[in-house]
Amino acid sequence: MNIQNYVIGNWKMNGNWETNAKLINSIKSNLPHSLNNSSTKTVVCVPYIYLIQCKGLLNNSIIEYGAQDVSAHENGAYTGEVSAGMLADLGCKYVIIGHSERRVYHKEDNELIADKVNIALKYKLIPILCVGETLEQREEGITNKIVKQQLETVLQSIQNSEQKSNIDNIIIAYEPVWAIGTGKTATAEQAHTVHAYLREIADNYMHKSPSILYGGSVKPSNAKELFNMLHINGGLIGGASLNTQDFCDIISTLN
Ligand code: PEP
Repeated sequence: MNIQNYVIGNWKMNGNWETNAKLINSIKSNLPHSLNNSSTKTVVCVPYIYLIQCKGLLNNSIIEYGAQDVSAHENGAYTGEVSAGMLADLGCKYVIIGHSERRVYHKEDNELIADKVNIALKYKLIPILCVGETLEQREEGITNKIVKQQLETVLQSIQNSEQKSNIDNIIIAYEPVWAIGTGKTATAEQAHTVHAYLREIADNYMHKSPSILYGGSVKPSNAKELFNMLHINGGLIGGASLNTQDFCDIISTLN
């Protein structure tokens, strides 16, 4: 299997003009040299308002940038929203969709998330589709049922839409909600079991097996073990992506 590896930083709602410039410049100068010849792609997903700043800072860099959400609507009277067309207009290539913080705080359901993935594909963006169970769901033994619903709702919807031929552009991120920002990481085995299951589902819909990233308190100390697993193709990194040393150390584990 030749599957693209990624390390994608999710800055969430952090940073300002000055700290962003410092962070990006220090990541650029501390990136492992091996990255130039490696197949791993590095991306930072930043708040909308700083996309234009990051575009400038990352000009001629191998690091790419993306957004953290997108509107499900193409355009019109949706005050405060940002469309896929606007992101594409800016040269933005990636967008995180269905992060658990959007699902919980903004009540986003699987159908809305499917619409967002659809419109992102229409504008040739690469959606990073997040799925994952809560602690209660894991303890109830329904992890597979939850992630299956989350993934299949989207893949079925895309398969039945005009974006069917773009379905292979989707990146999947498995992010157990109980491991996000809590310091608790899924063990490599726990994560790998879910990744293998997600791949089985995805392969029923996609023509090319997708990149499936793990997210949830990834740090330099646990990245190697996670990324060594067959079905884990890199990580979606929250907290550690705000620290140059940690982010670059995580990237080097894939190179
Ligand atoms: C995330 O928010 O996508 C994430 C994985 O966060 P953290 O690495 O901080 O757990």
